[in-house]
Amino acid sequence: MNILVTGGAGYVGSHVVEELLKTGQHKVVVLDNLQKGHRESLLGGEFIEGDLADTNLLDEIFTKYGIEAVVHMAADSLVGESVEHPDKYFNNNVTNGLNLLNAMVRHDARYIVFSSTAAVYGEPIETPITEDHPQVPTNPYGESKLFFEKIMARYDKAYGLKHISLRYFNAAGASPSGAIGEDHRPESHLIPIIIQVALGIRDKVIIFGTDYDTPDGTCVRDYIHVTDLATAHVLALDALADGAESNVYNLGNGEGFSVREVIDMVEKVVGKPIARSEGARRAGDPAVLVASSHRIMKELGWQPKYHDLETIVQTAWDWHRRHPQGFGA
Ligand code: UDP
Repeated sequence: MNILVTGGAGYVGSHVVEELLKTGQHKVVVLDNLQKGHRESLLGGEFIEGDLADTNLLDEIFTKYGIEAVVHMAADSLVGESVEHPDKYFNNNVTNGLNLLNAMVRHDARYIVFSSTAAVYGEPIETPITEDHPQVPTNPYGESKLFFEKIMARYDKAYGLKHISLRYFNAAGASPSGAIGEDHRPESHLIPIIIQVALGIRDKVIIFGTDYDTPDGTCVRDYIHVTDLATAHVLALDALADGAESNVYNLGNGEGFSVREVIDMVEKVVGKPIARSEGARRAGDPAVLVASSHRIMKELGWQPKYHDLETIVQTAWDWHRRHPQGFGA
C-alpha cells in the first residue's frame, strides 16, 4: 500500500517507519514538521517537511503519492504541558487531525491507524485496564486523543473510514538494530532522563510524587518496547487492508513498574548509582496505568518480543551511550 506516516520522524514514528520498510511491501511517505522529530531518524521512504495545518500540502501529497492508508502519529504528547497549554493540544491533536481526516475523505483513503494513549482512561478503577474501561481523561492530552477516537468513529459511520486506534502505554527502549532511539528536546521521559544521569549529562532524576497510593508511593507505569509498538502498527494496517472493522487496542506488557523500580533497573543495566531526589507530583498523572493487551494478541496475533524491563532499558542504554547528545550530534 501507499502509506502516509504523519509524525514519522518522531520517536515512535521512526520505529514504525523502520518496521514498515522491513516488510518490503509498502511505499512509505513521511510528513513531519520537525518541531520535535529528527530528519536523521528516518531510515528510508519519502520525506516531506510540513504541517497538518497546511491543507493544500495534504491535497498535494494524497494526489502525488496515491495515498491509500495513513498512520497518524503527528501530535503533542506531554501530560504536564497539556495541563498548562490545553489550546496547543486541542489545536494540534484535534483541529489539525481533522484536516488529515478530511483530506482522507476527499481523496478516498480509507484506512487509518491512530496513535492513541493510555491517558484516555484517566484514573483507573480496575487494573489491568481493558479497552472497555471507562474513559475519563485527567488531562487535556488524554482528552484530545479521546475526542479524535470519537471523531473517527463518526467518520466511519458517515464516510466508511476504517480506523484502528492503538492506545499506547509507556513507549520505551530503542530499536535493537541500533539505528534509532529516543531523543526529545528537552527530554521529559523517565528512562532517557535516568540514562542522562548515568551519562553525566544531568545531576539527578527527580521523582515526581512519592505519596501515591502504590506500594512504594511512586507512580506505576507499563513500559512497552517501541519496536513492539511499531510492529502492532504494521499488523493493524494489514488487518484494515484485509477488511477488518474499526477497533481500538491497548498496547502494553501487562506489568507495572514504579518510578523507583525503573531507576533501580537502570542502575543495574548501566552498573552505576543514579542520583535521585523526591519532588512534587506532576499535574495530570494517574497513580497506576497497567494494560491488558489480550485483545490485540487474540485478534491481530500481536506478540511483544522485548517485554521485560531489563531488555527495554538495555536497548535504550545501548543507543544513548553511542548517541549521548542524540541525533545529529
Ligand atoms: N517521572 C518522574 N521524573 C521524571 C520524569 C517522569 O518521576 O523526571 C515519572 C512520571 O511522573 C510518570 C513516569 O515517570 O509517573 C513516566 O513518565 P513519562 O514522562 O516517562 O511518561 P508518561 O507516563 O507521561 O507517558
